[in-house]
Parts: sequence; C-alpha cells; structure tokens
Amino acid sequence: FDWMSETSGLILFLMANSSSSYSFNYIISVNRLNDFVHYTVYHTGQRVDGPLITFGDIAVSTGFKNADPCTARECKWERSTDGLVYVPYVISNQYSPDELKVIERGLRSFADVSCIRFVPHEGQRHFLYIKSHSGCYSYLGRQGGGQVVSLERPGCVYHHTVQHELLHALGFHHEQNRSDRDKHIKIFFENIKPAQRHNFMRRETNNLATPYDYKSVMHYSRKAFSRNKEPTMIPIPDGNVVIGEARSMSRNDILRINRLYCRSLKCCQTV
Ligand SMILES: [Zn+2]
Repeated sequence: FDWMSETSGLILFLMANSSSSYSFNYIISVNRLNDFVHYTVYHTGQRVDGPLITFGDIAVSTGFKNADPCTARECKWERSTDGLVYVPYVISNQYSPDELKVIERGLRSFADVSCIRFVPHEGQRHFLYIKSHSGCYSYLGRQGGGQVVSLERPGCVYHHTVQHELLHALGFHHEQNRSDRDKHIKIFFENIKPAQRHNFMRRETNNLATPYDYKSVMHYSRKAFSRNKEPTMIPIPDGNVVIGEARSMSRNDILRINRLYCRSLKCCQTV
C-alpha cells in the first residue's frame, strides 16, 4: 500500500490537555519524506453542558500557509478531460455500517452541487485516506500521494464534519481566517487559549468574489477555544447573528467550490 510506505517516516508528538468544559488533544506531525514540514494541530472537544461538538482543524504545510485556497499551487486537485475533478478515497475498515453511510453521504453530497467526484481509489497516485484517528482533521489541499482525513468515531462522524474536513482537503480554510474577516467579526485574543491563538490569525485568502458567510460550514462558533467561557469572536456590526452552527455546506461554500474547480462547466453554472 503506497500510503503506508510514504508515511512510514511520520513522527508523532502527542500531548493531551483538558479543562473542565472541553477536552482537547494536540498533535504535531513531521513528515520528513516531503519537502515541507507538516505541523498538524487538531482538537476535539466535548462540552459537558451541551451536545457533543467537534472542531475540524487543518494540517498546515509551511509552503501553503498563505495560499488558501492555493489556486496557483499544486495543492489543487486536477481536473479531468471530461471536466470533472475526481478525488479518489479509501475508507478504513474501522467504521460501523451506519457510520459508513454518514461518510459516504458526505462524499456524495459534493457531486450533487459541483464537478467534484469523490471516487473509490483504484490505484491513482493521489488520494484521501479516511480513517478514525485521534480527532477530526485534514490537510489543506492536495498533498501528493495518500493523505489522511481523520474522522474519529463517533465524535467526528457527522454530515457537517465530513463536509468540513473534505473542504479542507479541497484547499479551503476556515471562514474566520479570511483576509476580510475583521469587517465581519471581532476576535478577542485575550479569551483564546494561548496554544490555539494561531487558529485565529488572518490569512491572505483568495475569497473567489464570494461574501463572508457566517453560515459557512467552515466557520467556528463564537466560543471556540475559549479559555474562560467568554466569546472568542463576535459578529459585527450585529453581535446577535448566529455564527458557526451550520449543519451542511452553505450556498457560498458551494459557490466557492464551483468557482475554484468547476468554472466554465455547463453542469454547474446554475449553482
Ligand atoms: Zn477545520
């Protein structure tokens, strides 16, 4: 299996941390076989006084950190001559039949609204390896060879989480990292756990002429990574707008996929 040999050099440093309201795991991985050093930080959280919640996070390649959604770089998946973008995947055998249904529904949902086609891996060079690792995370864009999308069971096996991590794998960053985010949210760095402040840095993103979207499945909720139960971000000018509670891709999430990958394709111009 190509993926196994390519990642045999993976070094994992695992640290665990917990607080009264959330528990988090952090992981840093270094892939020595690549030109880039991959720093992976991911987190899962369970709120004691609420429903199970999970935050997907991304593995940051140093070469791509300002290139979301990396339109000009090789982290974009290639378009086939038939106009479709095939993204091969392997799903590990760790999942129950019901969990598999959720994951497969998430994979299929892209075909309904875009030129993206997640297809079972049949020897292609580049592919996603969907497995239950420790948390929900994905690399940002295509990395080359096999790349892990972690959907830990059962906490990450939800439709919106599957879509969220797959959008990272297609090259999309979190909404609150957008270049224009300061017009739409105010960040309270003093309320963010110090080790997680990098998750709130503004990025030079390609926004594909789409508006900032509080309903994006890529938007964090207002108390994400709070160290004191106070908000880490508040929408402006209307602080009461709901943020970060999407249960599926928004209209703008879909529009971005189409603008990045499916331009001038007849099937998708009406989206
Ligand atoms: Zn994420």
